[in-house]
Amino acid sequence: MAARRILITYSEIFYSIQGEGRYCGAPTVWLRLFGCNLNCDGFMQDNLDDPSSWELDYKDADLSDVATMQDLPVFRRGCDSSYSWSKRFRHLAPQETATEIAARLRDLLPGRVFRHPRSGQDAHLAITGGEPMMRQGAIVAVLAALRESGDAPQFITVETNGTRPLTKAFTGELTQMLASTTKEWFWSVSPKIRTSGEDWDKTIRPDIVGAYAAAAGTGQLKYVIDGDPRTWDEVERATELYRAAGVGFPVSVMPVGGRVEDQHRIAAENAEQAIQRGYNLAPRVHCYLFGNALGT
Ligand code: SF4
Repeated sequence: MAARRILITYSEIFYSIQGEGRYCGAPTVWLRLFGCNLNCDGFMQDNLDDPSSWELDYKDADLSDVATMQDLPVFRRGCDSSYSWSKRFRHLAPQETATEIAARLRDLLPGRVFRHPRSGQDAHLAITGGEPMMRQGAIVAVLAALRESGDAPQFITVETNGTRPLTKAFTGELTQMLASTTKEWFWSVSPKIRTSGEDWDKTIRPDIVGAYAAAAGTGQLKYVIDGDPRTWDEVERATELYRAAGVGFPVSVMPVGGRVEDQHRIAAENAEQAIQRGYNLAPRVHCYLFGNALGT
């Protein structure tokens, strides 16, 4: 119970759709936790091979008129969720207990319940970041608070970069959710390859993702691509390693960038390759609908 009184730092809670991958389009209530173990400064840089040329909008942004997370622009280069981990934005991140967060999630749902009062369909809960698996204790506390409220989600997605080992407490909560209320636990794993600018050895951790797959649920592997042949090689090499570690999740490739024009161009340029290589092509639909703004 003490855990329930601990303050959890998050960057946003909102109700929208799932914009990426298998559950694209599903009404989804989102909890974006604060903090990440990576930076992914390479995304959308003009010259990925020369880190000295990289421009990083989140480091230079003028914050003088920014009072809340919602006042922030979406940054084009680097991680488009940098507001969910950079210490520049830490002061904007709300802190609440698990019980308060559970109530806030429910308050956003039509009728304040996961099952829609008219459609009879269940809204999904997506937990993202930053890197939410850095905050496994917080996730356990929020799920326990939802379960105790009598209305726990049937569909839960955790969006992760796949580099943080599972804790025993988390595995226990996951098992309990699946045994009691939850129909599907979905690991949306986005391993960071060369498009992110991060080092392979730090980001490709088949042992860790293998443990997620073995613990419970279903999932997907979702790579961010730019059309460079070296990126395709990394998709194939990483997937082989995940398969060898027992990860049978289907693979989606997602165009880099948050602007509609980037999504559209890179998806179109890579559609044929994705089809030929046998991967799902997964443009980021929320960018088309809402311009990749916060809260969407
Ligand atoms: S892992 Fe995700 S949230 Fe973290 S820096 Fe990379 S893209 Fe951003």
